Amino acid sequence: MHTLLKLDYAYDALEPHIDARTMEIHHTKHHQAYIDKLNAAIKGTDLETKDVFELLKHLNTVPENIRGAVRNHGGGHVNHSMFWKIMAPHAGGHPSGKLGDAINAAFGSFDKFKEAFAAAAVGQFGSGWAWLAVKDGKLQIVATANQDNPISQGMNPILGIDVWEHAYYLKFQNKRAEYIASWWNIVNWKEVERRFAHH
Ligand code: MN
Repeated sequence: MHTLLKLDYAYDALEPHIDARTMEIHHTKHHQAYIDKLNAAIKGTDLETKDVFELLKHLNTVPENIRGAVRNHGGGHVNHSMFWKIMAPHAGGHPSGKLGDAINAAFGSFDKFKEAFAAAAVGQFGSGWAWLAVKDGKLQIVATANQDNPISQGMNPILGIDVWEHAYYLKFQNKRAEYIASWWNIVNWKEVERRFAHH
């Protein structure tokens, strides 16, 4: 059985960029619902003990009758588990070390990377995510619909922003671009650097 892990910080710790009420509902209701539906889908199958990330990596090995549920709810579980970790209070700034160098090499500068990432996040039609991912050793920006994770396309995500309305609507309403602009202030680059080093 998959379970909801506690956050490393309080629900109000990311204020004013993400409000406490949004964080609490997002974590205890939305993320919990993905976990409950994932558990229900794999109950009694040999997928119960498998790593969800591995299932998403090889979706075609998941039995067809539960493949959609694993893709959506397993994706929801994996995506949100990462999302909570790559944010932190008193964070933001910019990446350093190898990740900082790789971003400069791939996108020209950190500011150009931020522009391209924000454009992908704003441009994702409807619900989904924008990601910074590694493929064949190279950094790239990709957007996905719903709870799809880039791992299913052979890419290893190291940073992702949730652009479902449930992630920002209480504070930002329809202003997705303002949510994204504010979100840079809580990106936990130390964690993203760690993920880049282990991709
Ligand atoms: Mn979400």
